[in-house]
Amino acid sequence: MKSTDVLIIGAGISGLLCATELKKNGRSVCVLDKGRGCGGRMATRRMGAARLDHGAQFFTVRDAKFQRYVDEWLDAEVVREWFRRAPYDSRPEGHPRYCGSAGMTDVANYLACDLEVHRSLTVVQVERDHGQWVARTASGAEFRAHHLVVTAPLPQALALLDTSGLDYAGSALSQLRAVRYERGLATLAILEGPSGLPDAGFVKLQDSTLSWIADNQAKGISPEVPCVTIHATAAFAEQHWDSTDAVRGRLMLDSAAEHLGARVVESSCHRWGFTLPINPYPEAYFHNHDLSLSIAGDAFGGERVEGAALSGLAAAAALVDDFDGV
Ligand SMILES: Cc1cc2nc3c(=O)[nH]c(=O)nc-3n(C[C@H](O)[C@H](O)[C@H](O)COP(=O)(O)OP(=O)(O)OC[C@H]3O[C@@H](n4cnc5c(N)ncnc54)[C@H](O)[C@@H]3O)c2cc1C
Repeated sequence: MKSTDVLIIGAGISGLLCATELKKNGRSVCVLDKGRGCGGRMATRRMGAARLDHGAQFFTVRDAKFQRYVDEWLDAEVVREWFRRAPYDSRPEGHPRYCGSAGMTDVANYLACDLEVHRSLTVVQVERDHGQWVARTASGAEFRAHHLVVTAPLPQALALLDTSGLDYAGSALSQLRAVRYERGLATLAILEGPSGLPDAGFVKLQDSTLSWIADNQAKGISPEVPCVTIHATAAFAEQHWDSTDAVRGRLMLDSAAEHLGARVVESSCHRWGFTLPINPYPEAYFHNHDLSLSIAGDAFGGERVEGAALSGLAAAAALVDDFDGV
């Protein structure tokens, strides 16, 4: 069994940026993800020839460290500005909203190119063995490393770490367990013609059913096929979590109809168990030096893509210091 300096569970933005920074600093890193693709909640789906951003729709940048990465992605044409001004902006000049050039997964795919990433592997158990971490997957594979970083949504990360039987977080455990996420529903719909959505092709809503509709064709990721991503409010997602797709999908499409200029010809509805953390942990990551364990992701220090990215970068910086004996 090969051993690396660091094993990272989760190939979302936090895990991939953590891995990238560690590799830049000379560490051997292996990333595992249960998904068929990378990116986690920065997800792009295909429906025939249509391409739709299914989870995160865009990201913003406030921090200089993250901006340096985004500048590299802009130069490499991995991301581009989708829009700068929205009707709900407080500043009239707005600020850049970035998206993947051909979908939000582009960022993850770009980062993964330079990394050892194993997909379609669900880690079901972790344990300490002879001073190392061992991760076992549902398919029976084992991965061994000196240090473990878990970047799954926090409740999933804790459930996985519980399998170690270790007291891995001491007095911080109750605060980690207290972090809650909103759940979400996304309906992806192919249209007969252009959506007619205003501006750059999106509308942010405050009604009881929907929070967002985006036109993936106007966004530029589905040039051939007009199609929209429709997100429900957290309240509607809770109310209809156990409804059938026929019921909740229909209700979402009925609410969207007044905003759309074309008939829906095909649709599918999906559940998101974790969208945004309601009460993020107040630090940028959790680190247990004695157990060589870190937990990172959007539950730490700040929600959304940038928060997750900064959490992964901060966890990597702390680990580099650990390895260097600082
Ligand atoms: C519907 C929706 C809309 C959103 N809209 C926006 C938006 O417009 N702008 C914005 O900035 N943010 C948005 N977000 C939030 C944003 O997507 C997340 O904050 C960010 O992508 C989280 O990144 P992460 O790396 O922390 O976690 P994730 O992206 O969730 O990555 C965690 C990874 O861990 C993997 N994993 C979990 N358990 C295991 C296991 N046992 N074994 C192996 N792998 C495992 C998962 O497959 C996943 O790939 C949205 C999220 C959703 C769901």
